[in-house]
Amino acid sequence: MSSAAGKIMLVGIGPGSVDHMTHRARAAIAEADVVVGYVTYIKLVADLLEGKEVVRKGMTEELDRAVHALASAREGKKVALISSGDAGVYGMAGPTYEVLFQAGWTPESDVEVEVIPGASAINACAALVGAPLTHDFCSISLSDLLTPWPVIARRLDAVAAADFVVALYNPKSGRRTQQIVQAQQLFLRHRRPDTPVAVVKSAYRRRERIEFTTLDHMSECDIGMLTTVLIGNSHTFVRHGLMVTPRGYANKYELHGDGSTREGEKRGRSLSTGLLGWTENLRIDHAEGETVAALALRHKLPADYIEMVLTAPVEEEAVSVEESEE
Ligand code: SAH
Repeated sequence: MSSAAGKIMLVGIGPGSVDHMTHRARAAIAEADVVVGYVTYIKLVADLLEGKEVVRKGMTEELDRAVHALASAREGKKVALISSGDAGVYGMAGPTYEVLFQAGWTPESDVEVEVIPGASAINACAALVGAPLTHDFCSISLSDLLTPWPVIARRLDAVAAADFVVALYNPKSGRRTQQIVQAQQLFLRHRRPDTPVAVVKSAYRRRERIEFTTLDHMSECDIGMLTTVLIGNSHTFVRHGLMVTPRGYANKYELHGDGSTREGEKRGRSLSTGLLGWTENLRIDHAEGETVAALALRHKLPADYIEMVLTAPVEEEAVSVEESEE
């Protein structure tokens, strides 16, 4: 690639404090000829902007920004598009690639593209409240501006049932006030009312505010455009003002007894509830007369999956390798 070639850098600057911006993010902005972003974020890098073309943009001009960036890059300029958090998380990275592809751009063309990762709101907010993401988690945006509500509602329902820790992005705005209420209702169908919830506003910014609440009171909290809502899973707890999700989920499950392991039936069998041990136990239960339908019900898994596990060839070799490693 020739040095005269332009470049588009999609820069994630973290939650909104200079301290939480990566070295590469600052360097990317320093090497840019053109810097594009919201005023708030541009202010954070004011010391790097001397002699640069600075384009301050509003909320609804995302595609314009990408088009403008491409035009400038084709003139040989280096353009930094600034996003809060990570540019690939509900940010500019996707729309920019879409605009580029539409314009016939390929990775081999003369315009180079670099996505510079940043700490997303989920990471920043989690760090402030403790360690809520220590087990499986996901994020859902409640913004229905570009996503139909039934799609969002189905995802809320699915992850609530699957017991993920969930971060809700874009939970509420002046116009969108009922989405968070409906999210709460969907969650309450699967989760206990006292499930811990952390409401984090303006993480690592001047007006930072953290509120701990529970699922049944979640929607009464002060929630706005700069808030991320973290909903714990069924094992998440709050102690001394810290929200923590235990790492040893599988063991706990066994301890609490959700029906998936039965006391007394494990004598002489593998104690493991991992894939190998579970498969072994499943086969024994089936051989002893438990039907596929009954096994599916007990393990809360689809019958065709249980069937598949039961009929797959036994991996003797894998078992012995594992054992010899221990
Ligand atoms: N690209 C950004 C997300 C943009 S969507 C990222 O990776 O973080 C905007 C949403 O992000 C807001 O509605 C809010 O839910 C969340 N958010 C962004 N910055 C935040 C901050 N400092 N504190 C809390 N939530 C934040």
